[in-house]
Amino acid sequence: MSESVRVRFAPSPTGHLHIGGARTAIYNWAYARHFGGTFVLRIEDTDPERSTEENTQAIIRAMEWLGLDYDEGPGVGGSYGPYFQTQRAESYAEALERLKVEGAAYPCFCTPQELDAKRESARALGGFAGYDRTCRSIDAESAAARIAAGEPHVWRLKVPEDRGDIVFPDAVRGDVTFAADVVDDLVLVRTDGTATYNFAVTVDDATMAITHVVRGDDHLSNTPKQILIYEALGEKLPVFAHLSMILGADGKRLSKRHGATSVEAYRDMGYLPEAVMNYLALLGWSLDGETTVFSRETLAENFSLDRVSRNPAIFDDEKLEWLNGVYIREMSAEQLVDRIVPVLVDASLISADEAVTRRAWLLKLAPMISERLKRLDEVVPMVAFLFSDGIEIDEASRQKVLEKEGSGVALDACRAALATIPTFDAETIEAALREVPERVGVKPKVAFQAVRVATTGSTVSPPLFESLELLGREQTLVRIDAARPLATS
Ligand code: GLU
Repeated sequence: MSESVRVRFAPSPTGHLHIGGARTAIYNWAYARHFGGTFVLRIEDTDPERSTEENTQAIIRAMEWLGLDYDEGPGVGGSYGPYFQTQRAESYAEALERLKVEGAAYPCFCTPQELDAKRESARALGGFAGYDRTCRSIDAESAAARIAAGEPHVWRLKVPEDRGDIVFPDAVRGDVTFAADVVDDLVLVRTDGTATYNFAVTVDDATMAITHVVRGDDHLSNTPKQILIYEALGEKLPVFAHLSMILGADGKRLSKRHGATSVEAYRDMGYLPEAVMNYLALLGWSLDGETTVFSRETLAENFSLDRVSRNPAIFDDEKLEWLNGVYIREMSAEQLVDRIVPVLVDASLISADEAVTRRAWLLKLAPMISERLKRLDEVVPMVAFLFSDGIEIDEASRQKVLEKEGSGVALDACRAALATIPTFDAETIEAALREVPERVGVKPKVAFQAVRVATTGSTVSPPLFESLELLGREQTLVRIDAARPLATS
């Protein structure tokens, strides 16, 4: 089966790419890559009110960010295009023609009011509220005459009377059964000539030769309808795989109430695409039941639908944050600098030009912060003190540290030492400062915290000696001098 696998991700561009959609895209991508198959992106833009070009672009951007490269789709092309549903009207019309010729579709002239009335009365009787097939018995000639006379009509699927229950093997859920009497003669083409959602999706999947339909289980109830359309068209059924939903930590379906749900919001919060990809892959799939950190290559190599869980997955922000921290720690200094530069530039701590000229300096900074960062955006408050001329000392830190007996004496002695050491590197700084406390009779903690608060503005900072090196001698001394009057001698 290796060459023939063709899967698709078919988002409706009615919003940005959300966590759930991204997971569907990831599984499709991984499935295609696993089998050396084809991953298709199809934009289901048939809802004119809610679909926008902006959303389409945002979805594509988010997919690119995650590294979900597709083999066919917008901007890439392919031999099964176009890849926007709004441009595929011709293939829906052709499919309808085929069904008409086969006698598998019929025009229905019932008005919306009539349909409402039928539904009401069926409901009142407690029966199935589907279409009662009134127009199915209109003979071909009178139907043609009414159409020729311009009478509004839709086209319905003529579901075989003896079709029976619709059972299909779902690759995730096992056999799924829909009772025959829950499916009526569904509308394929509306009065205005446009294809209905289920007709368009089915014709697209069939004409694009999709072999596996992997999607969210919110589409499970559409599947029997789509199967009937496949059958009427005489097309081979794809393998269906319905993914269980993603829940928030409260057990409710993940939604905006849970905070950020779009992939790009996570990007903006300082998450790495490889961490997001890894985490989302774990929401319903596991490599071996234990391994939580794996690369996209490992995912692609090992992905299979049999390891996709039928149970809903819980989206846990803390776990994602933890995983993001793991990825940050695993980066080389070069890689981390590449990732933090845009964040520093965005926060105006550094200009893009300076990021180039000060690369060596940034490379020294990277290992000092990599252990402490869980998200890239945390770098800004963590290192802001290195980029300003002077700092504000945070009041709590001042009271806690600079008001301590001996902090002034310690600052004086540390200043003197720092002013005279031959080179201003972390090692020399450390050696010079380590001998101060004993010499002036203060506790090491008092001395070092005094220097830390004076130079970084807070009791929490990256490692002190390295920070001073990056700050430079001049700025270090200026800051100690500025803080000195606040300290208790
Ligand atoms: N366009 C549908 C959606 O965004 C997906 C259809 C499908 O995967 O069959 O939910």
